[in-house]
Amino acid sequence: MPDAASSSRHTTAAVQSFLENLHQACAGLCEGKVADYIPELAKVDPDLFGICLVTADGQVFAVGDTEHLFTVQSISKVFVQGLALEDHGRDYVLGRVGVEPTGDAFNAIILDEASKRPYNPMVNAGAIATTSLINGDGPTERLNRLLDMFRRYVGHDIVVDVATYVSERATGDRNRAMAYLMRHFKMVDWDIEEALDLYFQQCSVMVSCRDLAMMAATLANQGTNPVTGDRAVDAGYVRDMLSVMYTCGMYNFAGEWAYRVGLPAKSGVCGGIIAVVPDQLGIAVFSPPLDARGNSVRGVRVCEAISQEFGLHLFDSSRGCHNFLEQLRGKKRLIEAVEETF
Ligand code: GLN
Repeated sequence: MPDAASSSRHTTAAVQSFLENLHQACAGLCEGKVADYIPELAKVDPDLFGICLVTADGQVFAVGDTEHLFTVQSISKVFVQGLALEDHGRDYVLGRVGVEPTGDAFNAIILDEASKRPYNPMVNAGAIATTSLINGDGPTERLNRLLDMFRRYVGHDIVVDVATYVSERATGDRNRAMAYLMRHFKMVDWDIEEALDLYFQQCSVMVSCRDLAMMAATLANQGTNPVTGDRAVDAGYVRDMLSVMYTCGMYNFAGEWAYRVGLPAKSGVCGGIIAVVPDQLGIAVFSPPLDARGNSVRGVRVCEAISQEFGLHLFDSSRGCHNFLEQLRGKKRLIEAVEETF
């Protein structure tokens, strides 16, 4: 018989009610500011707020605005990195984009002094370089490959929000400046405006909080969508993606995030955050108001609370029951054992 004290703590209903209470508690957090440097993003309702968990075996827990669609923004960078790795392999990609955290803002115009590479695929410079590695015969084929990749992660068709894409393209001179600097150092092969276009399009892909949780759960499930069973990325590259998320995914908050939450994660100026508990769980939060580093205020708070409640910090062994799925399964086993007894 399983240990009742550790196994009864988090039933499916208890997880749902914990998330509902957390949603209610964090809805009172009104700090932060919606991103407005891309005019289209400024139009979002700041009160939208969703939390969604998807387990590595496909169970879904959703609270609040989890079906509302918004643009994925920087969260796309993780998945495009995966596709670039599939297209070229680890060594080639590493030759073009480093894996070092910068400690600088996501849009900083800096390259590694010695190698001229952008520091990592999670800051804008690195993401543009990564996008420029996507294979395809011309812009349409590249975009289609990218959309197809997102489709495998979310489990349904996916579109680009044209208004956001046009808005980014019209106001993206900072990104343009970085891209031209990289071209100067011969770090981008094809037409720079085409590479930027694809980057703006990937940032403008529409997702819901539930989609993001499914994408995170796919990474938790070693690259296979836990609901459709579709392989979204070669399992061998999930490790690469998660390590870069862990060290660089939250920009210049990455160190404190790793310390406090202890999970690989990625944020975007849309107000979304994903976090991955390998082999167990994908977490997504959507709440548009951002802190000074460009991370969702409520998103950070929610992830910290979930990590703490379920003992998910990767290096936390003190709670002794930090396998999320085991906590759920443990209760089922307990009920079966009780039923057998009577
Ligand atoms: N499209 C945005 C940009 O390039 C993405 C930034 C982000 O989400 N941090 O500025």
